[in-house]
Amino acid sequence: MSNLTYIPEGTTYWAHYDHIGELHDGYNVFEKMWAAWYAYMQNDVLATGIMSFVMHEIVYFGRSLPWIIIDSIPYFRRWKLQDQKLPTMAQQWRCTRGVLLTHFTIELPQIWLFHPMAEAVGMSTSVPFPSWKTMAYQIAIFFVLEDAWHYWFHRLFHWGPFYKYIHKIHHEHSAPFGLAAEYAHPAEVFMLGIGTIFSPILLSYLNNGDFHVLTMYVWICLRLFQAIDAHSGYHFPWSLYNFIPFWTGASHHDVHHEKFIGNYASSFRWWDWMMDTQAGAAAQRRRRDKKRAERDAIALKEQQKLSMLSMGEEAKIMGSQICVGKEE
Ligand SMILES: [Zn+2]
Ligand SMILES: [Zn+2]
Repeated sequence: MSNLTYIPEGTTYWAHYDHIGELHDGYNVFEKMWAAWYAYMQNDVLATGIMSFVMHEIVYFGRSLPWIIIDSIPYFRRWKLQDQKLPTMAQQWRCTRGVLLTHFTIELPQIWLFHPMAEAVGMSTSVPFPSWKTMAYQIAIFFVLEDAWHYWFHRLFHWGPFYKYIHKIHHEHSAPFGLAAEYAHPAEVFMLGIGTIFSPILLSYLNNGDFHVLTMYVWICLRLFQAIDAHSGYHFPWSLYNFIPFWTGASHHDVHHEKFIGNYASSFRWWDWMMDTQAGAAAQRRRRDKKRAERDAIALKEQQKLSMLSMGEEAKIMGSQICVGKEE
């Protein structure tokens, strides 16, 4: 059922809300609010664009705020990964300005374009909402696909000129903090942003439109939570990584900022495991040990080959001596 069904005489948002309530008793408060918003706006692209962008800003800065407060309380320092490096207010303010600039110049157009693209492949904006099970499996797919996208593009951004002219900005903070999650060059924000919006469009296309824009909102919220927490600089006993061993979290991404190399994935550790790009002293030690073991194995083989050769030579000499003895 389309949202455009609801065009009551009242022009205010709440008039739409009441009208929808009268027509559909079964809708819950959120479904009524949702349908009233689309009916009130009379323009689905505008309705989705405004809602997505406002939600993105509220979640981004709302989720960053607790980390700003935590940074100012010494009690929490025991869980700070690089405990000597706290962000100054000047750094945080500079970061906020940079983030706002890319939000308005890069992410806003991307968010705006999302609706027409997703609608073209059949995305739904109507009520009732999809079940939580449908949303959960679709969001799980988005996490996996975005992680792969992020891993490979992030690795690319660490290549010579791309690092020098683009990714270096994100690495200005060797000890990251929540607000720095989206502090990056506009080209990077654009390329990595595609990873977030591409998978919902692909799924909508493959699923013949069985995809609701609400799922996209929840996905964006969770992705922001993941990115901001990964940059928080804190690893607590209750951090998700302690319960899900393949989850990245701050303990993974903080080392990336500290060492400038390795740990390229966004949500899961498996790409770094598979491609042997884990960062940190333990991973380096393991790689060194592995290389040494390989070198030792080659040297041993060479030694065995040489001793076999020399044994063969000795056997030859002995054989010829026996022959000479016989002749005598
Ligand atoms: Zn990087
Ligand atoms: Zn980062």
